[in-house]
Amino acid sequence: MKTVLISGGGIAGPALAFWLRRFGFAPTVVEIAPAPRPGGQTVDLRGVSRVVADRMGLLPAVMERRLHERGLEYVRADGRRSAAMPAELLDGAGPVAEIEILRGDLAAILAGATTEVEYLYGDSVTALDQDAAGVDVTFASGTRRRFDLVIGADGVHSRIRRLAFGPEEEFVRHLGGYTSYFTIEAPEDLNHWMKLYTAPGGRWVGLRPDRDPRYVKALLSFRSPLLSYDRRDVAAQKRLVRSRFEGLGWHTAHVLRGLDTADDFYFDTTSQVVVPRWARGRVALVGDAGYCGSPMAGHGTALSLVGAYVLAGELAAADGDHERAFAAYQARMQPYVEQRMELPPGGIKLAMPMSAFGIAYRDLMLRVMTSRLLSGVLAKTAAAKPDAIELPEYSVQRGDPFRVAAEEAE
Ligand SMILES: Cc1cc2nc3c(=O)[nH]c(=O)nc-3n(C[C@H](O)[C@H](O)[C@H](O)COP(=O)(O)OP(=O)(O)OC[C@H]3O[C@@H](n4cnc5c(N)ncnc54)[C@H](O)[C@@H]3O)c2cc1C
Repeated sequence: MKTVLISGGGIAGPALAFWLRRFGFAPTVVEIAPAPRPGGQTVDLRGVSRVVADRMGLLPAVMERRLHERGLEYVRADGRRSAAMPAELLDGAGPVAEIEILRGDLAAILAGATTEVEYLYGDSVTALDQDAAGVDVTFASGTRRRFDLVIGADGVHSRIRRLAFGPEEEFVRHLGGYTSYFTIEAPEDLNHWMKLYTAPGGRWVGLRPDRDPRYVKALLSFRSPLLSYDRRDVAAQKRLVRSRFEGLGWHTAHVLRGLDTADDFYFDTTSQVVVPRWARGRVALVGDAGYCGSPMAGHGTALSLVGAYVLAGELAAADGDHERAFAAYQARMQPYVEQRMELPPGGIKLAMPMSAFGIAYRDLMLRVMTSRLLSGVLAKTAAAKPDAIELPEYSVQRGDPFRVAAEEAE
């Protein structure tokens, strides 16, 4: 049985472990956090990612915890609505999709579906040494183990990518912003709307429904060139975020009070990850570690779930011949990845204007775009196009549980 070390227990890692186990491999997941990481706002499952969730048998659990968001409402400093994108206006292709689930809920569902997988929490890989037959791995804990394959599912700042592919600067493109997410007490009834206040200086204060109406998921986002900070120092990151938002209108003061006590605070750059080849020898990448469109493009969870399925399926279909499998994985996924990494027109500059004039202009554009007349046209844009991937049915051959055939889906 082939052993596979997966670095990262977010979304892509557990999804890959699920499928590898199903296909007869022996996966181990190492996650740097001491436990599955809670938190995050709603993420969406559209198109083929929904098919993958269904094939995993997880759709009932997802549907049970799904949120019903009515759309995205842009508000002014006094809370009045300046523009809105109702979910149905764009046929589910807008910022709010048909199936929305809290990222933390999805992570918990994936963890629950992989209880038989070996998880090493609170540890990480510090060195990799691959030869023709396997990979020697050294962990921060001091342990050394050998695996047949190693997969980096450790997000935008992937350590596996750094160790096996090269420095982060080669692959991560900073788009000029930072985002934080955390849970706070609800300052008002959102009535199933996501609300977003844009302040001059390229700053967003957002509130998004939680499953528990007493709470909301807060978002603080700001435009900035690359900053240097310690990614393990949460208190310093909170101070940094706070300093950008003090004195702003709407619910900002309440959000900042919640920031201080939030225990699921997440903070990261708004960046894209582009890696030309997702495999080096016996090491490969999946999810944000290998391809990430940033929160501006969305689709990160969908790409992770689909990427994990295709990677595991191709490994199984190639009978463990990793070179063939990694090439097939990339060939199949590449068009879909490129399609879903596409940024919305105007990018971060249009979405997060610096001046009051820019904000008024953006809101006017939104009102025009979402008018009855134009919303039909908008629904035909990139997000509404079918996913650029044929999802094979990796069916386990009868008689040999480890033989898998890739059949094109109808
Ligand atoms: C706490 C959290 C909240 C998020 N909230 C949102 C959100 O609200 N909206 C949104 O669009 N996206 C959010 N994201 C990002 C989103 O989950 C990903 O873009 C997408 O789902 C791709 O998943 P991934 O598994 O590739 O990466 P991630 O979900 O980022 O998971 C990567 C995992 O690797 C772990 N890790 C990092 N470094 C190491 C290491 N050296 N060794 C071992 N493990 C390591 C991380 O702790 C993390 O659990 C969030 C991510 C996290 C971790």
